[in-house]
Amino acid sequence: MEKQNEMRLEFDSRSVNEGFARVAVAAFLAELNPTLDELADIKTAVSEAVTNAIIHGYENEAGKVSLLCRIDGEEIEIVVSDTGKGIADVEQAKAPFFTTKPELERSGMGFAFMEAFMDDVQVESELEKGTAVYMKKRIGRKDDC
Ligand code: ATP
Ligand code: MG
Repeated sequence: MEKQNEMRLEFDSRSVNEGFARVAVAAFLAELNPTLDELADIKTAVSEAVTNAIIHGYENEAGKVSLLCRIDGEEIEIVVSDTGKGIADVEQAKAPFFTTKPELERSGMGFAFMEAFMDDVQVESELEKGTAVYMKKRIGRKDDC
């Protein structure tokens, strides 16, 4: 039978939790025996999404970040969501080098990395309601060997 498993976490919007989220996802995915490259890609994508929730969604104010991770056969889905300030124009936000915080030396590459490292990235956002980033990746493709 195909593997199916799901977990949800909710944590405070503190930058110390970026590392926690990376490690939690990596531990949860261990049963799929991902390669080190696959794991590095997923951890980077999770970090970028969680960092965005903390610094853009909540602008470093108190808030909760939700992380859902689902295994469905060889496919994983990760959803990082916040109930922060939301994104005015998602297409613009996803464009490489676009950032609303150049003063913080952000490079505007977070979404570009998520799209490069995952197979599919969808963003749902509403101003003053929050943002959800849906990411999918297939693990253990034969042509990766
Ligand atoms: P970098 O990730 O390279 O440090 P960045 O965070 O500005 O820079 P992206 O991660 O690509 O770049 O995000 C682009 C823009 O989208 C951000 O500058 C911000 O305006 C907006 N954004 C991204 N995630 C969120 C979020 N969760 N809530 C509100 N705005 C967001
Ligand atoms: Mg970012």
